[in-house]
Amino acid sequence: MEMPETCDFTVFGGTGDLALRKLLPALYLRDHEDQLPRDCRIIAVSRSEYDDTAYRAEVRASLQRHVDPADLREDVVERLLSRLHHVSLDFEDPEGWHLLHGLLKDRPSYDETVRVYYLAVAPSMFGEICARLEEIGAVDPQARVVMEKPIGHDLASARAVNESVGRVFEERQIFRIDHYLGKETVQNLLVTRFANTFLEPLWNSSWVDHVQITVAESLGVGNRGGYYDSAGALRDMVQNHLLQLLCLVAMEPPTYVDRETVRDEKLKVLLALRPMTPEIVDRDTVRGCYAAGEVDGEPVPSYAEDLGRDGSRTETFVALKTEVQNWRWAGVPFYLRTGKRMDRRASEIVVVLKRPPHAMFPGAEGVTTANRLHIQVQPDEGMRLHLTVKEPGPGGYRLRPVSLDLSYATAFGQRLPDAYERLLMDVMKGNPTLFMRRDEVEAAWAWAEPILRRWDESPVPPLDYPAGSAGPQAAAALLERDGRTWQELDA
Ligand code: NAP
Repeated sequence: MEMPETCDFTVFGGTGDLALRKLLPALYLRDHEDQLPRDCRIIAVSRSEYDDTAYRAEVRASLQRHVDPADLREDVVERLLSRLHHVSLDFEDPEGWHLLHGLLKDRPSYDETVRVYYLAVAPSMFGEICARLEEIGAVDPQARVVMEKPIGHDLASARAVNESVGRVFEERQIFRIDHYLGKETVQNLLVTRFANTFLEPLWNSSWVDHVQITVAESLGVGNRGGYYDSAGALRDMVQNHLLQLLCLVAMEPPTYVDRETVRDEKLKVLLALRPMTPEIVDRDTVRGCYAAGEVDGEPVPSYAEDLGRDGSRTETFVALKTEVQNWRWAGVPFYLRTGKRMDRRASEIVVVLKRPPHAMFPGAEGVTTANRLHIQVQPDEGMRLHLTVKEPGPGGYRLRPVSLDLSYATAFGQRLPDAYERLLMDVMKGNPTLFMRRDEVEAAWAWAEPILRRWDESPVPPLDYPAGSAGPQAAAALLERDGRTWQELDA
């Protein structure tokens, strides 16, 4: 899949937080590496009454805020700004679309141009935007559309969003972003598992005791409280990011890496997740909501204070246990947890192996720890393998835990591209391997929905946990009950 010669990259919601904070800096950084098609234009669409000059000034300011000064080069900034255009229109109003149509048409080699439509707006507008694009004749077989999360808030609404977009674009033209899949360490998980031979023989229920996946944030909901309160941690993080990480840990080796085979294997994992019956939800899930506390030595308010009202039953923390019911993983628990206002910001996968079956070193009984592979997704990407070794010196065997470290920063000594940089390039090239297919999204909702339903029925609200902690005590108890503990994160 090659980068096209010409491309028009249209961002619906081009003045929003996502566009200014993530998408335009990512496009700038790829332009910095000379990776954008030479005459690529970036067209922002929103209601704001910007002309091109005003929009370019806004983007310049945003690049200064969100790009490392070491990567800001005036000639590249100028080149990126010269690619930018702004079209003012209201998506819900049929008027104004001719302005966009006129701009799209106004270029040489219109027929050869790959048109990308990035929907950086609320999903309720996805269907309307796609229908208007079709009406103005701006959808051809090589056009692509990118959908941001959340794709629905349950299975029915996810299907409705997928159908409204699917009426205009074929599945092969639809790119559903889960930015976790664009992270270097997440892609490296596939390479580590399948381009080496030492792990694969151990990667199953004979040798793996359990798997832990944590996505911890130290921030609260900030000014996204309105959206967050209608979603909660299960919808915002577990149904998409954590399940995608679980899929990459648990999937079978695909025959090769292409647009469908990796996604076929991930789908099989989602379909093999143990169904969450009401009894299992009551027993194997914990939800919490942050109270006031301290993060990094600073006092921070409660969720209710951040939201500006009491009485919300939205969870800002989830811990749960699940299983992948197939030959490879039968009986191996997968523990997932995520939360806001936790004691640190860290995303990490820990694969904990079984302990040696026999303690043969005299005096060292109970000293050997289980081998663990920590895969640090953020903030400091890397991998760490925890082993037990002999402490040097005479006088018998003194066993000590040590770790073999692969820090990306040290090993490669270069800036790691942001996930959006990789993913936006893949969209332009038409490579959907790292994007979620419709059946994956819907299988993930089908698994998550019974949890949401059971929680809705429950009279018990989420448990309080102090901001700056590891979540409610019940999350620790979920593992202690099985004779396990959450691993100290390496990050
Ligand atoms: P935002 O800051 O509120 O921006 C929304 C954008 O849409 C603005 O450019 C707004 O511009 C435009 N807009 C809204 N209604 C419009 C209408 N009727 N007609 C034309 N333009 C309209 O939102 P955001 O944070 O960028 O998020 C956008 C979407 O991405 C949301 O669905 C969000 O859940 C998702 N998302 C965001 C992030 C993030 O980090 N921000 C991360 C993942 C997913 P005007 O007001 O000028 O029209």
